[in-house]
Amino acid sequence: KKQRFIGKTAIITGAGSGIGRATAIQLAREGANVALFDLVNERNFELEQKLNKLRKDCALALDVDTSDAERMEEAVRQTVERFGGLDIVFANAGINGAVGPIEELSLSDWEHTMSVNLTGTFLTLKYSIPHLKKKGKGSIIITSSINGNSRFASFGWSPYSTTKAGQVAFAKMAALELAKFKIRVNVICPGAISTNIDESTEFNEEVGSIVIPIEFPQGAQPLADGPGKPDNVAELVSFLASDESIHITGAQIVIDGAESLL
Ligand code: NAD
Repeated sequence: KKQRFIGKTAIITGAGSGIGRATAIQLAREGANVALFDLVNERNFELEQKLNKLRKDCALALDVDTSDAERMEEAVRQTVERFGGLDIVFANAGINGAVGPIEELSLSDWEHTMSVNLTGTFLTLKYSIPHLKKKGKGSIIITSSINGNSRFASFGWSPYSTTKAGQVAFAKMAALELAKFKIRVNVICPGAISTNIDESTEFNEEVGSIVIPIEFPQGAQPLADGPGKPDNVAELVSFLASDESIHITGAQIVIDGAESLL
């Protein structure tokens, strides 16, 4: 295994599961200290223990709702106090949220998805950037989705897709703004990946009146037999976090086994 991250510190949001978890393991295996941000959950603390067995004191799990500004600010500070700086930020936490016809979504359905996926991304960058600047260099990776591509639409997913498209725009603004500080910002657009994301889908009486297919159809990713794996995405994120991608910023990278080409 390569050792690209010795002496580096990474914040990973949504680290307790799926893509975040796979990335935390990959970065830690390659030498990084990892701050694992997730909502209060056992999986995140189990991951901390697992990684600390891999390499002593390399992981710190923190209960963080990324949409809570005060908590985000505090958690970034705790990370820097513990590990002495910050080099890599993976703004990955996200939810599917409420799915359904627009006129049947409540304002709070809408606002919940906006606050986790968009405001959470904003706050993650806002509080991390000053620490990256202190290092004179850094890499930020944001997890959007192929649903954030303008040519792609799916019935019922208007709040989610709006946030995912917003993250792409936000990443490009950030990349431009931060280039002079040698801080790179890239956004990844995964297709379907086998994770626990379906647990975050909110179906309820009001939004349940149309049938929304969420099953993964056979052949939907021509490159593979089924959906992608979190490790596939972790490899991409590690590349973007490392100096191997030193001249790449503002890029939007699709990782979907050709799902969005169909
Ligand atoms: P997942 O549900 O397995 O993991 C997401 C993690 O984020 C969970 O541990 C959850 O507790 C955490 N989280 C949710 N809200 C949070 C908050 N407010 N603060 C902190 N942590 C929070 O799902 P995943 O598929 O690994 O999702 C990661 C990212 O990938 C999301 O942004 C998602 O939109 C994106 N994505 C996933 C897929 C897919 O098919 N799985 C496809 C495209 C994009």
